[in-house]
Amino acid sequence: MTRRKDRQVARRDAEEELYAPVAEAVARYLGARSEKELAGDWNSLGLRVDLPADATDGTVFELGNELLAILQAGTAELQPPFTWTLGIYRADELLRVLAPGDKPHRRCPACGYEQRWTERCYACEHPFRGAGAAPAGE
Ligand SMILES: [Zn+2]
Repeated sequence: MTRRKDRQVARRDAEEELYAPVAEAVARYLGARSEKELAGDWNSLGLRVDLPADATDGTVFELGNELLAILQAGTAELQPPFTWTLGIYRADELLRVLAPGDKPHRRCPACGYEQRWTERCYACEHPFRGAGAAPAGE
């Protein structure tokens, strides 16, 4: 086997290992589907999650944070020779894009607004305390 073939096999294995827990998590959501998109180029893996039209904003928020944690853990463990992005769609509308360096979205403990990682709530300016990775609780 050539070294190029070895690299192709290793690449495919890393893709499968990184993707498997994503597919597993998505499968727990009713009507949700996930897929690996056709490779755009050698260095990037495109993932796509489709949620049904009746999925709530809360589902998008929770699933997004869950998949981000899964993919970041997988990336740290596998050290794959490629980067990745994951798009979360609801009824074909792109709602969130995840990439390796992202931080989880947060839910404001004061008003409940769900938003990108930030120092203060966009909606009510409540300050988020601490630098913890976990989104604010209920
Ligand atoms: Zn708020």
